[in-house]
Amino acid sequence: MMTVRAYAAQRAGTTLEAWAYDPPPLAPFEAEIAVTHCGLCHSDVHIIKGDWGESFPAVPGHEVVGEVVAVGSAADPALLGQRVGVGWQAGACLACEFCLRGEENMCVRARPSCFEGHFGGFAQRFRADSRFCHPIPAGMRSVEAAPLLCAGITVYAPLKRYARAGHWRVGVVGIGGLGHLALKFARALGAEVTAFTTSASKADEAKALGAHHVVMTGEASALRRARASLDLLLVTVNAALDWFSYAKTLRPNGVLCFVGAADNNVDIPVGVILSKQWTVTGSSIGGRADMRDMFALAALHGITPQVEALPMSQVNTAIQRLLANDVRYRFVLTWDEPA
Ligand code: NAP
Ligand code: ZN
Repeated sequence: MMTVRAYAAQRAGTTLEAWAYDPPPLAPFEAEIAVTHCGLCHSDVHIIKGDWGESFPAVPGHEVVGEVVAVGSAADPALLGQRVGVGWQAGACLACEFCLRGEENMCVRARPSCFEGHFGGFAQRFRADSRFCHPIPAGMRSVEAAPLLCAGITVYAPLKRYARAGHWRVGVVGIGGLGHLALKFARALGAEVTAFTTSASKADEAKALGAHHVVMTGEASALRRARASLDLLLVTVNAALDWFSYAKTLRPNGVLCFVGAADNNVDIPVGVILSKQWTVTGSSIGGRADMRDMFALAALHGITPQVEALPMSQVNTAIQRLLANDVRYRFVLTWDEPA
């Protein structure tokens, strides 16, 4: 048993400080990972700010990659020495109807990786149920695998669910950690892809990432010009926008799907929803089968996030720059030299 060195927020809204904790004995199905890389997701910032309630001290980090160094008595010993990754979900009951359907993310006993008393990957060691330790395809660099574990699965799952033949015109609102991967996955799945961004400097980059079209949302009438053009609009922003204006970019039978934790309510007249047959929905990470599927597709098509690696000691710099929308497109913190 070793004391775990970590970076923690002791109270809401504070910077992370070096901290250490002594973990309890390893539970039967748990695995302990020596962390090498951990992505910084905007959900970590929500946790640090206390947006989702009090859970302090908070050790954020839920795009964890590393090597399994210990397993509990019931876990598969073959995991020892393996390179694995864990995303937002670190456990589930594995017996309820949702788990049995491969929708472990809908399990009422879903265990988060770095929230509600669980300590995350901005640490030298991290623990999860071994059955949520996902193998990483050989040949995929750890620094690029990390963001797939949350940002990747979160955009892949709704694209798989809603983008399909005859329903393949996909818009992505917000080209950040999630959004830039959404452009890549949507393109690989055969969609006609439209990026919606507030950042003029991202317009050309969005096309290089896979967008056929770019809508600069800061320009008056930009949304109006995109009216009735999309089958799926995937919203990755955490801001409070006028969702009816965005919904008007949908064609009949279109789907407005939120993955970003937008900070307001959706106010769309029911009469329009019913006459256009729009679906207004959300999506939360993805199940284990979708995670495997996502990694396989990423490996097949060479879909990798664009990352900036920083040493773990610079985690506060990464957080400040993420808050300032100053990252292309995902920070990954490492314990080694930046890869
Ligand atoms: P991120 O890297 O900060 O990206 C968010 C993007 O939203 C920014 O890059 C920016 O894109 C756009 N944006 C930011 N502020 C905006 C504003 N005021 N108005 C309009 N657009 C704005 O964040 P992320 O890591 O991708 O996470 C995004 C959200 O998804 C967070 O709320 C996070 O908690 C949530 N999330 C949800 C799940 C899930 O399971 N559903 C999983 C992971 C994360 P442009 O520069 O292109 O405008
Ligand atoms: Zn996340």
